[in-house]
Amino acid sequence: MQYTPATDRYEQIPYNRCGKSGIKLPAISLGLWHNFGSVDVFENGRAIVRRAFDKGITHFDLANNYGPTPGSAEENFGTILKKDFGGYLRDELIISSKAGYTMWPGPYGDWGSRKYLVSSLDQSLQRMGLDYVDIFYSHRPDPETPIEETMGALDSIVRSGKALYVGLSNYSATETETAVKVLQSLGTPCLIYQPKYSMFERWVENGLLDVLEKYGIGCIPFSPLAQGMLTDRYLNGIPADSRAGRTTGHLQTNEITEDKLLKIRQLNDLAGKRGQSLAQMALSWLLKDKRITTVLIGASSVQQLDNNLASLDNLNYTSAELDAIEAILK
Ligand code: NDP
Repeated sequence: MQYTPATDRYEQIPYNRCGKSGIKLPAISLGLWHNFGSVDVFENGRAIVRRAFDKGITHFDLANNYGPTPGSAEENFGTILKKDFGGYLRDELIISSKAGYTMWPGPYGDWGSRKYLVSSLDQSLQRMGLDYVDIFYSHRPDPETPIEETMGALDSIVRSGKALYVGLSNYSATETETAVKVLQSLGTPCLIYQPKYSMFERWVENGLLDVLEKYGIGCIPFSPLAQGMLTDRYLNGIPADSRAGRTTGHLQTNEITEDKLLKIRQLNDLAGKRGQSLAQMALSWLLKDKRITTVLIGASSVQQLDNNLASLDNLNYTSAELDAIEAILK
């Protein structure tokens, strides 16, 4: 059936300014790492993207290697754009892609050379059927390529019109500061930084968030639900259709330890007392920090997406609740 976006979509979700830039992003963004590949059900992914847009989610995050198979998430997203979003909605979307992990064989299909970044973005654009992405990331630092080359590639990608903004992901606080200064010197500021950040993964609190604040860079935490562990998904075992249960999922069953489960159960009880699901509490806990521009979630169903969106109904925490969370996590 022909898709008509909800007319009230921009009244559904807050939009936060991304660092000191002209861009605002929805408080929740959707990532297509899992559930949108060639191994997944296309119509399910399509329904999730439509629902997201209807709810005001304007930002969709991809990377060259998302699938599996690598590249297939971008292909499927391109098909959805073509079928449902037509040409005219492109200006309402912030679409990102990345390069930095293994994409094709040989010395030019990985890491951070100019050769790799420029060709990979060309391939991504072709797969998605786009002329440009809004944000292009260096997906990880390359210890063997001069930072001037990697940042120089990002700068010339922007000047070529194939990306409007650039971002960094998985750089340490020190590497970020160095890269940001190189970008500044080239005249292409870093818009946004994408770290792994959740109740279970808190390295960013030791310096990285300070660097982002100092340079006016937005922050978009990935895996804010710890790939589903910070939800009710694993409270009663490992469902066959879950990320840990599926052979194509990145979450390994041995990561769901007894120690983690104990914490998950306690957090789940606390969330219940706040009138939230655990997923909702995990997201609102991140969003209470004004340095966080948007949380980058994944979802395997429309129901999960809806559940996560409702986290925005309660972003306030008492100090007693915050202390209780720290006591559980320590
Ligand atoms: P999350 O931590 O949000 O995990 C998403 C998974 O959690 C879902 O696929 C689903 O798993 C489960 N889930 C989500 N909502 C609920 C709910 N309400 N109730 C129960 N279960 C739920 O994020 P991801 O790990 O998926 O990462 C999000 C995005 O971040 C990626 O798509 C990608 O764009 C980006 N990313 C970036 C990286 C980088 O290096 N820059 C690395 C990794 C991700 P299930 O399948 O079990 O239902």
